[in-house]
Amino acid sequence: MPHNKEMITGWGRTQPVAAKIISYDPTSDGTSPFLQGPAIARGLGRSYGDAAQLGGGVAITLPDAINSASIDESGHLSVGAGTSIDSILARYVPQGFFVPVTPGTRYVTIGGAIAADVHGKNHHVDGTFAANVENFELLAPAGAYHVNPLESPEIFWATAGGMGLTGLITSATIKMLPIETSYMSVETRRIGDLDELLATMIGSDQNFRYSVAWIDCLAKGGRMGRSVLTRGEHATLGSLDARRARDPLAYKPRVRLSAPRWVPNGVLNLASVAAFNEMWFRKAPRHRQDELISLSGFFHPLDGVRDWNRIYGSTGFLQYQFVLPDGKEEQLRRILERISAAKVASFLAVLKRFGAANPGILSFPRPGWTLALDIPIGASHLGLLLDELDQEVLSAGGRIYLAKDSRCDAETIAAMYPRLGELAKIKEGLDPQGIIKSDLSRRLRLV
Ligand SMILES: Cc1cc2nc3c(=O)[nH]c(=O)nc-3n(C[C@H](O)[C@H](O)[C@H](O)COP(=O)(O)OP(=O)(O)OC[C@H]3O[C@@H](n4cnc5c(N)ncnc54)[C@H](O)[C@@H]3O)c2cc1C
Repeated sequence: MPHNKEMITGWGRTQPVAAKIISYDPTSDGTSPFLQGPAIARGLGRSYGDAAQLGGGVAITLPDAINSASIDESGHLSVGAGTSIDSILARYVPQGFFVPVTPGTRYVTIGGAIAADVHGKNHHVDGTFAANVENFELLAPAGAYHVNPLESPEIFWATAGGMGLTGLITSATIKMLPIETSYMSVETRRIGDLDELLATMIGSDQNFRYSVAWIDCLAKGGRMGRSVLTRGEHATLGSLDARRARDPLAYKPRVRLSAPRWVPNGVLNLASVAAFNEMWFRKAPRHRQDELISLSGFFHPLDGVRDWNRIYGSTGFLQYQFVLPDGKEEQLRRILERISAAKVASFLAVLKRFGAANPGILSFPRPGWTLALDIPIGASHLGLLLDELDQEVLSAGGRIYLAKDSRCDAETIAAMYPRLGELAKIKEGLDPQGIIKSDLSRRLRLV
C-alpha cells in the first residue's frame, strides 16, 4: 500500500498534525490497512475540525473509483466509497440522475457523506444521505461486513453518522434521484427580520424540495435576522427555454477563481464582513420566482472558488452548527442576538429546517432549526462565547454537528449525544483492540 507522511488538517485549517497517509485500494490490496496501527478513514478532508485525522497515527484514503461505478435503470448506483460527489455528478447528471442529498460542497466522498450522515437543503423532504443508502461494505479490524438497514440495523446506524469510528466504508449502493434537466427552478425572497423568516419557512417550506436562508448575523434591533431565502425544485423539461432545451442535461460546473496561496490574517474582519452582508442583502431581489439556475450555482456556489478556506489566513476558521428543536424559536433568537452583539464576523450564516430524525447514534439532524456560522479564529472572546452557546443549545434540547466541530468538550457532547454507550458496544465487536480512533474521538471521548 503506498503511503507518505504529511501534515493534515480539516477544512478550517486549525489543529495541523503529522500523519501517515495510506492509499488503500479495496479491489486490489490484500492486507488490511488496520494492520498499520491506530487509524482513521479520511475522505477529501471537508469536515471542518479534527474528525478525519489522527496525530501520529494513520489516515486511510480510498481511490476515486468513478470509472468502475455502475447504475441500473431505476437509479441504484454502486460505487467505491472514495468516489466524490463531484465525479458522480459529472458522470450521471448527463444521464439524468442527481445525488439524493448533497452538502454545500460537491468535493466530499461517499464514505465521508455516510460517515457524517450529511444533510442538504432538502432534509425536511428527503432526510439525510444515509436515508438514501441501500447498503454498504464495511471493513473493520474484526472483518468485512455487508451492511444494510434491514438486516444489520445496528452496524448500519452506528456507521451512518459514526464519523469513521466503526471501520472503513469501502463501497456503497445509493438511490439516485431521476432529473429531467440540469437546472433548478428557484424562488428568492428578501426578508426583513427573524420573525418574518421563521414564519415564512414554517408556513411554506413544505412546498419546496430545497430551502435555505442566508442570514445577516451582524444586523441588530428591528433588522435582526434579515435574510435572503432561496427555495427551489428541479426544473422540468417543459420549463426550459429553447436554448437550454437543446441540451437539457448539460453539466459543466466551472471553478472560476482560486484563492491566493497566502492571505494575511484578518482580511475577513468586522468591517469587511459587514460590507459584504450589506451588499449581499441589497443585491438580492425582493421576490423573484421561476428563475432557472444551474445545479452547481444552486447547490455548490462556494466550489466556484478553489481553496476558498485560505481567505481566513493562517489562523484558520471554524464552523459552529447546531440544531434546535421546533418550539425553541426564542432560544434561536437569543443565540442570534448574542452573536450579533458579540460582533463575531460571520459572512456565511445559513439557516435550514430539518425534518424527521433517523436512528443514527451520532447522526446530527433532529426536527427543527439548524444554523451554521463560519467564524474566523482570532477574537479573544470567541471561545467563551461558543462555550456559552453550547450550553444554551444543550438546555434547549439541541446539539452541535460533529463534522463541523473543532472545539467542544466531552461532557457537553455526551449530554447532546446520549447513546455513546451503544456506539462503544457495537465498536467493541468490530474493533476489539481499539485500533480505530481520530483526534475528534479522543478529544470528545466518543468511544
Ligand atoms: C463548503 C462546505 C460545505 C458543507 N456543507 C455541508 C452541508 O450542507 N451539510 C452537511 O451535512 N455537511 C456539510 N459540510 C461538511 C461535509 O459534508 C462533511 O464533513 C463530509 O463528511 C466531508 O466529506 P469528506 O469526504 O471530505 O470526509 P472527511 O472530512 O475526510 O471525513 C469526514 C468523516 O468521515 C469519515 N470518513 C471519510 N471517509 C470514510 C470512509 N470511507 N469510511 C468511513 N469513514 C469515513 C472520517 O473518518 C471523518 O470522521 C460542508 C463542508 C464544507 C467544506
